[in-house]
Amino acid sequence: MIDARLSVFQGVGQPFAFVAHPVGAAPGPGECLVQISLASVCGSDLHTVDGRRSGPTPVVLGHEGVGRVLAVGSGRETGLVGRRVTWTLADSCGVCRCCREWDLPQKCERLFKYGHAPFHDGTGLNGTYASHVLLRAGTTVRPLPETVTDEMAVSANCALATMVGAVEGLGGPGELAVIQGAGLLGLYGCALLKELGWRRVVVVDTNPARLELVTDFGGEPALNSACSVVPSGTADAVFEVTGQGAVIAEGLDLLRPRGRYQWVGMVHAASRFELVGEVVVRKCLTIQGLHNYVPRHLGAAVEFLQRQGARLPWERLISPALPLESLDAAMALARTGRWARVAVRP
Ligand SMILES: [Zn+2]
Ligand SMILES: [Zn+2]
Repeated sequence: MIDARLSVFQGVGQPFAFVAHPVGAAPGPGECLVQISLASVCGSDLHTVDGRRSGPTPVVLGHEGVGRVLAVGSGRETGLVGRRVTWTLADSCGVCRCCREWDLPQKCERLFKYGHAPFHDGTGLNGTYASHVLLRAGTTVRPLPETVTDEMAVSANCALATMVGAVEGLGGPGELAVIQGAGLLGLYGCALLKELGWRRVVVVDTNPARLELVTDFGGEPALNSACSVVPSGTADAVFEVTGQGAVIAEGLDLLRPRGRYQWVGMVHAASRFELVGEVVVRKCLTIQGLHNYVPRHLGAAVEFLQRQGARLPWERLISPALPLESLDAAMALARTGRWARVAVRP
């Protein structure tokens, strides 16, 4: 029997504990044992570590990752063994109304999310800040082509797949989109829209360093506000990926009649803002909230990386990998905002 190495988060202000933990018997029906080759620090992990988001403890954090399949249980395709894979961050039942009727398996009544579940739920191999993760029977597993490196794929099952879903919600390409926020969500959104044929994508951020990457993703950077480069009432679509309610008024102003506003970033309670309802009604706007994604979006994310991955500046986005045992230092580095993602290697 092999031992996995796990990092265990015990609470705000406490360092991670590193423990050896038995991997256990062969995977059960539908399960898939994966050896993690690379994980990355998502903003939501940092929210938990810094106490802005509460969750159960102790917990193995980390939901973004890539790895190689070591073993599968009955019912899983045996051809997965030995393959490098990515997987949906949500495990869903497949039978509830969210799963079957509403195209929202990420809101499943029996939802399990990697990196969010208590340590004592199941085998304990529940997160990616670890040498191994045990994928459950309701998790979609996608093999990765060899041309898609670990660095390209590591955040595909969070930021990239989420933006694939946000872009899908728009239907066909338009002329002009504005993205509020030049983090990884915004940059991926920019590349996805340009590939689909959108003529102009303007990306707004308050941080000049983050805006430096925008042109590499096919967009036009705008510091602090898009108003100087986008006339009021002309954007076909606006994406909120900042998490800041303060940007909503500008987004509504920029949209054209029957424009579409995709809200993706405000995944925390500090997202209160004032909204003048008249603007939404008179311009016949559509506002859509999006949280996580469905399995087809992860498939499309992998295909996007296969087509476009080699062109994107990963060495400027993803930090050199820190060892798992330096997870506290990885969190500190993530806090500086120097990298879109800090990478962790078990
Ligand atoms: Zn994430
Ligand atoms: Zn369900």
